[in-house]
Amino acid sequence: MSDFILRTKQLTKTYKNHHAVDQVELTIRKGDIYGFIGQNGAGKSTMLRLVTGLGFPTDGTMELFGKDADKSLNEAQKRMGAIIESPALFMNMTAHENLEVHRRQKGVPGVSCIEETLKLVELTDTGRKKVKNFSLGMKQRLGLAIALLSDPEFLILDEPTNGLDPIGIVELRELIKKLNRDKGLTVLISSHILGELYQLATTYGIIHEGRLIEELTLRELDEKCSQHLKIKVDDADSAAAVIEAQLSTTNFDVMPDGIINLYGHLEDVREVSKVLTGNGLIIEHLSRNGDSLESYFSKLVGDGRNA
Ligand code: ATP
Repeated sequence: MSDFILRTKQLTKTYKNHHAVDQVELTIRKGDIYGFIGQNGAGKSTMLRLVTGLGFPTDGTMELFGKDADKSLNEAQKRMGAIIESPALFMNMTAHENLEVHRRQKGVPGVSCIEETLKLVELTDTGRKKVKNFSLGMKQRLGLAIALLSDPEFLILDEPTNGLDPIGIVELRELIKKLNRDKGLTVLISSHILGELYQLATTYGIIHEGRLIEELTLRELDEKCSQHLKIKVDDADSAAAVIEAQLSTTNFDVMPDGIINLYGHLEDVREVSKVLTGNGLIIEHLSRNGDSLESYFSKLVGDGRNA
């Protein structure tokens, strides 16, 4: 079986003359937590609606669980759980009663899934408490429980942290990590704040004015965003040995093109240079590199209004 959960090709959604989603080519692999980042109005919700079948593309195709024909795509969409916009919660009911209504609507057999799902989202002890008395974080977790009721393999969450306080955000992140780790769920999660999904997502897609302008792994993002010294010398292997022995650090990467990224020692540029040249190495390049997450995002999208 293919490792791809979702692949879109030239996916486009046009409203009158406006491309809300513009030729997006996005790839999500099994086990990924894919962070979909863009400012307000960038096209995130429209894209997620296309993926979940709540909207129809003007152009382009998508392949979900290896299926792309209309009928089989509908079947594949049943293997997803999603929260797009606010989940429909009945405020005068308990968490258990809410899940029972949704279980029946979705035709999920057996009632044991309700307690199991409540446990999964850590809402088992809410008893007779009505949803109207829940915190926003609890409501969000109940929404997540609804999306998880049918035991999906692929979870889609549209800005689930919106309105949550910092503790609620941390709890939700931990829950998503747990679902990914313990249940092997693949997750597509959107946010307008890159930092909010930092270290949660394994892959990041940045959307701006409908276009996917960058797709990168957490490691690549780290490389761009953590401050480091970028060093190019005539002999990378010798330089690595010198750095390890004389600067007493292993906190560096030797990149395939021979460039060394040295993390730390940012204030010691002279010292680093002295050690390298002192060992007969010729320095071709030495600079401080790396953005903060915010400035990286701002540079990509042109300004930092929402970053
Ligand atoms: P937000 O976080 O503000 O929801 P978003 O990244 O999810 O932003 P979308 O809601 O997908 O962005 O909107 C993308 C663009 O498409 C916006 O310019 C929006 O005004 C436009 N748009 C979305 N839905 C419609 C619609 N039904 N009719 C016309 N334009 C629409």
